[in-house]
Amino acid sequence: MANEVKNETKKFVVAVDGPAGTGKSTATKRISKLLGLTHVDTGALYRGIAYLAMEAGFGLEFDESDHAAITKIAQRTKFEFQRIPGKNPSNRLFVNSKDITGFIRTPDMSMMASRVSAIPGVRAALKDLQRSLGVSSPSILEGRDIGTVIFPDADLKFFLTADIDARAKRRLDELEAQGGDIPSYEELREQIKSRDEGDSTRAIAPLRKAEGAIEIDTTTYTLDQVVEIMAEQIKKRIHELGLDQ
Ligand code: C5P
Repeated sequence: MANEVKNETKKFVVAVDGPAGTGKSTATKRISKLLGLTHVDTGALYRGIAYLAMEAGFGLEFDESDHAAITKIAQRTKFEFQRIPGKNPSNRLFVNSKDITGFIRTPDMSMMASRVSAIPGVRAALKDLQRSLGVSSPSILEGRDIGTVIFPDADLKFFLTADIDARAKRRLDELEAQGGDIPSYEELREQIKSRDEGDSTRAIAPLRKAEGAIEIDTTTYTLDQVVEIMAEQIKKRIHELGLDQ
């Protein structure tokens, strides 16, 4: 099954990149609601492939001889995001018509997503889809290579950072809120470090700050402060482009 790919011209795109635990997801979700932008969590797509690869029997230790089979999974997967309205609206991810939202946020799935995301064929299979998710309406996309590879022509780019202890603490709080098996703080800190290292040193589309991106160190900021800083910059850009006329 192939995903529908649109070759439209983009409307307005904000690219948000940065390592795990910098507040990207939470901040972009809030901003999307505040400013009426479509929110696209591109990490969820890699997590979807990780889920399917694990379901097909691959573990974290897969090697290069497995790349072709995992690439095939990525090429055949049909993705669909569904927004469930209500008091606590949620964005659900369906792969091949199955709702996998509840399975993809575990530490193991994070590591597997990082591993499958380094396979060139997997990245190629998801590239057009990511672009097409951001072109139909004014959008904010978050990931690792949005400003460098997916939307080098984005209207505004951000690069979020934070020190490793702050990031590990945030992830721990998130996992605690989610429930289920929770690793220790030290384990989680190591996992995040290793994932960042993999994401930043891989040969294809490594995590790095895009040229012209606004860098925000979120270590000492509250979520409200990060949202405020980013929203101000986005509104300024919308005004500069005359899109608020
Ligand atoms: O953002 P999130 O933590 O959900 O992403 C999971 C993994 O997916 C990342 O560690 C990274 O390896 C990969 N990813 C990527 N490119 C993106 C988004 C995520 O390589 N644009």
